Amino acid sequence: MKIMDVICRYCQGVQQIRRQGVSKSGHQRYRCEQCHRTFQVAYSNKAYEPGIKDQILDMVINGSGIRNTARALKVNMNTVMSTIKKKLKP
Ligand SMILES: [Zn+2]
Repeated sequence: MKIMDVICRYCQGVQQIRRQGVSKSGHQRYRCEQCHRTFQVAYSNKAYEPGIKDQILDMVINGSGIRNTARALKVNMNTVMSTIKKKLKP
C-alpha cells in the first residue's frame, strides 16, 4: 500500500492516508489510519462534498428558497430539505 499526500476530511490528519479501493463511479477512495474513516477527494454526487451542507444552510438563512438553493448548488431539493430538517433538530 502506498501512502498518499491527501488530507483527511474528518480529522485533518496527513500522516497516514492510504488508498482504499475505488468507488462504483471510479473515484479513488482513501482511508485515514488515525480516525479509521474512509473518504474520497472527488465525488460524483455534489451533496457529499465537504462544505456543501454549510453552503445550503447559509443560502437558506439568507433568504434563498429551497428550489433556488438546489438549482444554484446543483443538489437535489430533498437534500436541501433534509439538511435544514437535521439542523433544526434539537
Ligand atoms: Zn482522519
